[in-house]
Amino acid sequence: ADGEAITAEMVPELAIQSFPLCMRQMQDTLKTSKHLKHEGRQQYGLFLKGIGLSVEEALAFWRKSFSTITDDKFNKEYRYNVRHQFGLEGSRKNYTPKSCTAIITGPVPGAGQVHGCPFRHHSETGLTSLLHSTLGSTMSNADLKEILAATKNGHYHVACTRVFELQHAKLPGGASVQKGDGLGGGDSVDHPNRYFDASRKAIKE
Ligand code: SF4
Repeated sequence: ADGEAITAEMVPELAIQSFPLCMRQMQDTLKTSKHLKHEGRQQYGLFLKGIGLSVEEALAFWRKSFSTITDDKFNKEYRYNVRHQFGLEGSRKNYTPKSCTAIITGPVPGAGQVHGCPFRHHSETGLTSLLHSTLGSTMSNADLKEILAATKNGHYHVACTRVFELQHAKLPGGASVQKGDGLGGGDSVDHPNRYFDASRKAIKE
């Protein structure tokens, strides 16, 4: 995050505007089930740290998101983990957000888990419904076909880049994504945080 101070309250709106599908899915799950399992909290928590949430804002975010549990339970079971991600507990390691490769080759999500990369870990049906719910009418049938074909061929970064383009196709002021907007990896998505940064840049321009 280049200088933009991110607060817990801003996350839901930012998720719609600028998060890649993997993180958007976690925000949506958090909203509906008020919980995320451990691997999801790791992947999403480090991403949120990467976009610029301070440890205080991260604690506020998770506390608010886990709205069905008591403060006591939150403090006992989750607080340490959040602080740990910021290197403030245990081995005090400065954990960095996971890259696409780390997410794609990392732990496979099991039942009830939504971490991982939707392009790699979802069935075609699951991915299609996630794409419909996040992109709505912005995505044509031809777009969907293109994304599914890239996914089937294992070109997850190509599919994700196409989603990025669609997500930003209707920006106010008609901004569109240009080559060199900073996605990295030869202008295709290779890191969820790079996706976010490129999105903020495209939106501000
Ligand atoms: Fe997330 Fe990377 Fe998969 Fe895109 S390609 S959904 S940024 S893990």
